[in-house]
Amino acid sequence: MIWLLTGGAGYIGAHVARALVAAGDDVVVVDDLSSGLTERIASLPLVRADLTEGPDPLAAAMTAHGVTGVVHLAAKKSVAESVQRPVHYYEQNVGGTAALLRAAATAGVRHVLYSSTAAVYGESTEELVDETSPTAPSNPYGESKLAAEWLIRSAAAAHGMSWASLRYFNVAGAADSVLADRGRSNLLPIVLRAADREEPVEIFGGDWPTPDGTCIRDYVHVEDLADAHVAMAESLRTGSVRSGVFNVGRGDGVSVLQMLDAVHRVTGRPVRRRVVDRRPGDPARVVADPSAIAAAIGWRAKRDVDDIVGSAWKAYRPGT
Ligand code: UDP
Repeated sequence: MIWLLTGGAGYIGAHVARALVAAGDDVVVVDDLSSGLTERIASLPLVRADLTEGPDPLAAAMTAHGVTGVVHLAAKKSVAESVQRPVHYYEQNVGGTAALLRAAATAGVRHVLYSSTAAVYGESTEELVDETSPTAPSNPYGESKLAAEWLIRSAAAAHGMSWASLRYFNVAGAADSVLADRGRSNLLPIVLRAADREEPVEIFGGDWPTPDGTCIRDYVHVEDLADAHVAMAESLRTGSVRSGVFNVGRGDGVSVLQMLDAVHRVTGRPVRRRVVDRRPGDPARVVADPSAIAAAIGWRAKRDVDDIVGSAWKAYRPGT
């Protein structure tokens, strides 16, 4: 099967590309290289395009390569930037999805697999969030990802495509240093850098209503997430899944302090820390109920927090 993978030069996208290829599929990457790196996808065909340029180059690439499925990861993903530039986020994340769907309909694509996010749930107060939990995004990033979910659902129904949206929880870890997360916005890359440089990590709030006072998240290894894409792509191809929204997490809550302990345990380096004010919009706890995807396609995370931290540390390059 031949997949068009948007955002394939990104941190998560490159892991998905590698996993699809390892499973025997062909992959054509579409990426504007605004944050992606070509070294991550050296051997794959690349169409360098911003989705908001419109459907024509996308449809041409789909037809030229005989694409029958789309895996759509290209998006803007900074919560803080989305608050500053909401129009840009809607243009990129909703407008880009619209262009992709228009191209997919033109080219006769049969399947759409979408990269969504736990940010669609917003400040959930539930112990475990499942796919029936209310969606109430607390920023334009989450809104735009949810709007794109709806758009995919409606367009797929209108054009007879099967579809699945995977709601990622906190993705971390790496297969190797080439694919590693080079961003500086998520907790684990920040903590590893701080451990390496013996600088303090800022903990955003120590008075949350959690057992140790710090926020709890559900960290999932990027290679487990990539495996979830491969399994879901195969289920769309065979028709065993026609449509649906699925959480992708481990179902296990890990606090910020527990993550710092894991980094100390795995790297042997103590992590200095300083508790600062809460970050606006942070929920105290966001942990997946991952049972729907297990029931639908048998996917479960295989790697734990020490695997996540160990892989990210192995892939870490000092000075990056
Ligand atoms: N966090 C923190 N210090 C940092 C970065 C993150 O305390 O320098 C906390 C943040 O408040 C959240 C958790 O770590 O509770 C994960 O944050 P991240 O930005 O990685 O992901 P999010 O859950 O916000 O999508």
